[in-house]
Amino acid sequence: MQRKYFQPEIETMSADWIKRVQDEKLVKQVRYVYDNVEYYRHLMDEKGVKPEDIHGIDDLHKLPFLKKDDLREAYPYGLLATDMKNCVRIQSTSGTTGKRVVAFYTQHDVDLWEDCCARALVAAGCTNEDVCQVCYGYGLFTGGAGLHGGSHKVGSLTLPMSSGNTDRQIQFMMDLESTILCCTPSYAAYIGETLKEKGYKPEDNKLKAGIFGAEPWTEEMRRDIEKSLGIKAYDIYGLTELSGPGVAFECEEQTGMHINEDHFIAEIIDPDTGEVLPLGTKGELVFTSLDKEAFPLLRYRTRDICVLSREKCSCGRTFVKMTKPLGRSDDMMIIRGVNVFPSQIEAVLLNNGYAPNYQIIVDRVNNTDTFDINVEMKSEDFSDTPKGITNKEKELQGAMKTMLGINPKIHLVPPKSIERSEGKAVRVIDKRKRLGINV
Ligand code: ADP
Ligand code: ZN
Repeated sequence: MQRKYFQPEIETMSADWIKRVQDEKLVKQVRYVYDNVEYYRHLMDEKGVKPEDIHGIDDLHKLPFLKKDDLREAYPYGLLATDMKNCVRIQSTSGTTGKRVVAFYTQHDVDLWEDCCARALVAAGCTNEDVCQVCYGYGLFTGGAGLHGGSHKVGSLTLPMSSGNTDRQIQFMMDLESTILCCTPSYAAYIGETLKEKGYKPEDNKLKAGIFGAEPWTEEMRRDIEKSLGIKAYDIYGLTELSGPGVAFECEEQTGMHINEDHFIAEIIDPDTGEVLPLGTKGELVFTSLDKEAFPLLRYRTRDICVLSREKCSCGRTFVKMTKPLGRSDDMMIIRGVNVFPSQIEAVLLNNGYAPNYQIIVDRVNNTDTFDINVEMKSEDFSDTPKGITNKEKELQGAMKTMLGINPKIHLVPPKSIERSEGKAVRVIDKRKRLGINV
C-alpha cells in the first residue's frame, strides 16, 4: 500500500504544535537527565542552572553543551540514565575520527529510532510490497540495525545483507528483485560500477530508490548513482550518539533533510563561541534528545557543519530541514593554512568526468604541507601516452586550484587501483598526525 507518510499526524504537525511538543518534552527530559546522570548534573551545577530554570525551548541556551570528548571521558557508563537491566541494546560509532563511543538503548529507544527510519523509507516511496536490501553494516554500527528495523515497521520484505560480498549483493538484488537499496553512497557507487562491469544496464534491475547516508556525499555523486542504478537517491543522516540513521531524512523534494523534531531539537551554533545562530546561517549542528531513556543527550555538539531552514516543503512535512553536512568541523583539513573539505575535491572530480574514487594524502616535509590526491583515471585514458596522462593531471590540478585555492599534486592511477569501501570510505590519510600535529 502506497502511503505518503509513516506517521502523518506527527510529520505534518503545525509549527505551533511542534514547539508545544518540544517545550513539554524538554522540561521532562532535562529533569530526567539531572536526576539520573551525575556527569551532566555536574555540568549543570557548574553552569549554575537547575531543571526548574528550563520552562521550554526558549531556555535551551542556558544548558551546557556536551561534546564527543565528554562521551569518551564518561565511557562506558557515565552518561547512562537508566538501570542496565532496562537496556536491551548497545551500538557503537564507526570511529571515523578515532576513538569509539558506545550508546545504550531501551526497547522504547529502539522503537523510536526504528520509527524514524520507517519515516525515511516511506518518504523514499517504500511500501509493504517492496523488497528492501539493507547493505549497511550490521553489528555495532548503527546503519544495518536502523534501516532493518525501519523496513520491518513499514512491512517490506527485508534482505539483511550487511555490507560486502558485492557479487552476492548483486545476485540477490537480481534474483529477489530488490526495489529499495540502503547503504553508504560510496558503496552504492561501487555496486553501480560493478553492475556495469557485469554487463547490466540500469534498467535491468528492479530498484526504484536508494537511501544513502552515514558519510558526506555531493550532489554530483547523487546524480552519478541515480544514473548508474536507474533510481532516485535519498539522503539520510544520523549519528550513533543520538540513535543512528534517521535523525533526519530526505523527502522527494531533495532539498535538504527533515529533522525528526518530535524526538530531537536542532540548534546551529558558532563553533568558536558557542553562540546560537539564526535559521539560514551556517554553523555547527547541536542536538537535544527529547524522549530518550537510556542515553539522553542535551545540547550535543555534532561537529557537523550545516544550515537549517523552515521554508515550506512541497512534501507537506513541517519539520525543519538541514542541508547536507557541508563537512565535519573535524573532517576539515587545514593544508598550508587553507581549509579543505574532501567534498570539494569530490565535486571537482565528478564535474570533470572522473569517478569518485580518490584518496587524499597530506604530510609535512621540511615544515611545509604536502598535498597529494590519487585519482583513478577514466578507463578510456588508461592507454594514453605518459605525456597525455601528465597533461590530464595538470588539467585536473588547475580545476582543483580554482576550487580550493591551493595546488594539490594529482596522480592519475590505474582504474580499480584504489581500494573500494563497503562501509564508510577512507578518503583522507593525514600523515601529519605522526608528527603530533593537531590536524
Ligand atoms: P563516527 O563516524 O563519528 O564514528 P557515526 O558512525 O555515528 O560515528 O557517524 C555519524 C557521523 O556520520 C555524523 O556525525 C556525520 O558526520 C556523518 N554522517 C552521517 N550521515 C551523513 C550524511 N547523510 N551526510 C554526511 N555525513 C553524514
Ligand atoms: Zn519535504
